[in-house]
Amino acid sequence: MKYVDEFRNIETVKNLSKKIKSVVKNSWTIMEICGGQTHSIMKYSLQEFLPKQLTLVHGPGCPVCVTPLEVIDKAHFIAKQKDVIFASFGDMLRVPGSKTDLLKVKAEGGDVRIVYSPFDAVNIAEQNPNKKVVFLAVGFETTAPANAMSVLEAKRRKLNNYSILSSHVLVPPAMHAILSSPKNLIQGFLAAGHVCTIMGYEEYFPIAKLYKTPIVITGFEPVDILKGILATVKQLENNKFVVENEYKRLARKEGNIPAQKTMFEVFKITDRSWRGIGEIAQSGLRIKDKYAEFDADKIFKLESFKVEEPKICISGEIMQGLKKPSQCPAFGKECIPENPLGAPMVSSEGACSAYFRYKK
Ligand code: SF4
Repeated sequence: MKYVDEFRNIETVKNLSKKIKSVVKNSWTIMEICGGQTHSIMKYSLQEFLPKQLTLVHGPGCPVCVTPLEVIDKAHFIAKQKDVIFASFGDMLRVPGSKTDLLKVKAEGGDVRIVYSPFDAVNIAEQNPNKKVVFLAVGFETTAPANAMSVLEAKRRKLNNYSILSSHVLVPPAMHAILSSPKNLIQGFLAAGHVCTIMGYEEYFPIAKLYKTPIVITGFEPVDILKGILATVKQLENNKFVVENEYKRLARKEGNIPAQKTMFEVFKITDRSWRGIGEIAQSGLRIKDKYAEFDADKIFKLESFKVEEPKICISGEIMQGLKKPSQCPAFGKECIPENPLGAPMVSSEGACSAYFRYKK
């Protein structure tokens, strides 16, 4: 298949649905890791093409949703400074912190700018030598290489007014945390194809073996997702627990080596807090000391900044696959996209926003 229409073809979807129904004999719970996959599942009503024995639950793979509240509050603190231009991707602007959001900071006079690449922020820094330019660098292994490149590029251009507020997280430690929890319900994973395109998928071999859990690398279109589900249930029904790649058009076992080298030139692995979930050992990236001059945490002396998560939002349970968004008492009532109480209702990849947008 070459064109996107082929990955959304209804006849192919129906054929895959028939195959899945013919394979499934038992009840299984499968988690798709990535928020992009969650949105496809909801947008194309894929659950309706699956037998009742299959339950899909939604994982923590939405970068906006897992960025800790304290990072959001740090962003607001920095963006309010008079000598700062604060650059961010658009989806972070409405994420609520404990008191405000970046859109309100902008409305109150903060110089907050939407950029489409961290390199836009580097260019802004070059054009505004009297301002400190800070880029909000959040996300998974998919965004970390480009954010690392922006640091290397700022160094190459000898800019001393560019920094990143960094909060990167890694997928495999989150899978360990979910599968090792006593409350775990997950029996199979659809892994995120774009993360594997960068990182490869060798890291998943020990996870599949240790927890006896099939892991299938899957894309984001309806046909991709159903192929991933078919491969997962075939393994589950046959008592097999291996890593399979159903995203061969982009993902390779070794991943993108130059991107990995760039990422680990600038960042090192560290313990990291996930919003709603808490700290997961060795699950994030932090800027190496040799690039400390580009670390906004250090420049603005924010390393000990701490905030409490609001109690009402159950996003942590949703992202661990323990509950669905519709089980949150605030879903569609106090919490709607125009008035989000938690990040999964804000982000275009958030499970709560997908349920609100498509389930109705
Ligand atoms: S519906 Fe709102 S309050 Fe409930 S889990 Fe989702 S984001 Fe949090």
